[in-house]
Amino acid sequence: MSAVLLSYEEAAAEIAACATRLNSRWRVERVPLREARGRVLARPIVADRDQPPFVRSTRDGFACRAREASQHQPLRIAGASRAGDAPAGPLPTASAWEIMTGAPLPAGADAVMMLEHVGTGDGMGSKFVRLLPPRTLEASENVVAQGAQARQGDELLDAGTVMHAGQIALAGACGYAELDVFARPLVAILATGDELVPVEAEPAPGQIRNSNGPMLAALVEVAGGEPWLLRVAADRAEALDIAIGTAIAPASGTVLGADLLLVSGGVSAGKFDLVEPALERAGAAFHFTGVKIQPGRPTVFGEFPCPIADPVQDQNGAGIENGTKRCRCCFGLPGNPVSSAVTFLLFAAPIVAALAGRRETGPRLALARLASDVKSKPGLTRFLPANCTFGAGVDAGLWEPQVAPVPWQGSGDLTALARANCFLVVPESAERIDAGAIVRILLW
Ligand code: AMP
Ligand code: MG
Repeated sequence: MSAVLLSYEEAAAEIAACATRLNSRWRVERVPLREARGRVLARPIVADRDQPPFVRSTRDGFACRAREASQHQPLRIAGASRAGDAPAGPLPTASAWEIMTGAPLPAGADAVMMLEHVGTGDGMGSKFVRLLPPRTLEASENVVAQGAQARQGDELLDAGTVMHAGQIALAGACGYAELDVFARPLVAILATGDELVPVEAEPAPGQIRNSNGPMLAALVEVAGGEPWLLRVAADRAEALDIAIGTAIAPASGTVLGADLLLVSGGVSAGKFDLVEPALERAGAAFHFTGVKIQPGRPTVFGEFPCPIADPVQDQNGAGIENGTKRCRCCFGLPGNPVSSAVTFLLFAAPIVAALAGRRETGPRLALARLASDVKSKPGLTRFLPANCTFGAGVDAGLWEPQVAPVPWQGSGDLTALARANCFLVVPESAERIDAGAIVRILLW
């Protein structure tokens, strides 16, 4: 097999193209709204009624006719409505109606005087309210029209939307106690290395704990996948063949293979780095076998030629898997924890997101202002563990996110990794970046 070494931009483009091709709308499952966070909508959210469903006051105060109120005459208080009351009225002329935030306006009223802007008084057995001059009132002030945000039947969120708090709130307002979401892709995680023991084991001299397993599982969940942690495989060809076989085509007919395989470790040029040939023996063809980045240069991205049935369409237009589970892609991620994290975020996360049916799949890149000078060696795009303060410098007049590299001892430095909340992206051509420059960061 010939090596395919790409620049970061080329590798990112290759991943983006695969993500578009793999973006799958397949098996749909129903989950309670409370368990929908992070899931991907399989069918649109449709407004079951106007939003808001009635003309609503946005203030505590007095509903009235704006034209009458602006004349500053006392208006008789004809009634009161609180949130939850049915729409009342009609509002007699020269009258106002006491109203609370969230309550429906009585018929005939067109605005609300804020409590803070009125004077009240008694006379002839009635209570009166008056808008205090020089203030005047416009029609529709302090009210939201019925249907201002959405009309009954409107599609408010479409398939492919990731459900976060705001989307969950909207679905709740529309009466969705359950949601149809895409099934999560099953992502097999295979840590390899003779030195690795499970987290709960006491390492012997020379051994270390498999920290990449739980880290990659967490990353897979965030990206929208369901992690499947396999047992650690030794650095031996047969062990790798068996483990990879388990992931992509399990012996038991009842267990289906993974949709994506992540192998950690064993992709460098060392004597016991046997993962790439093992993936090839399993049938993988490689999109790339190295990327000019640091850390993460030996990253491998391949695809298995599985026969995939076309998704069938359900009545609502969402594609539904017709029984075939796929293991299409595989990654060999370098075992050093920082390398594993960076290469997952850059390359594997978009593929997981695509398999999850998410509309947006790209890595999460942002801009920030560099807080201190950074020196680099041209030739590789670098991703340095860094810390970005979002808004923490506001007191000092620093409104933009400020980013500074975290001191680190190289790509095995888990401590630095855990103290970082992003990676500073140093372009391939840069020899140095001065403090104050606007730089790219990869969020983590
Ligand atoms: P490799 O990519 O296999 O050459 O491993 C590079 C470095 O990462 C070595 O120091 C390994 O011990 C370490 N490493 C590999 N796999 C893991 C893992 N699952 N958890 C923590 N460290 C690992
Ligand atoms: Mg190794």
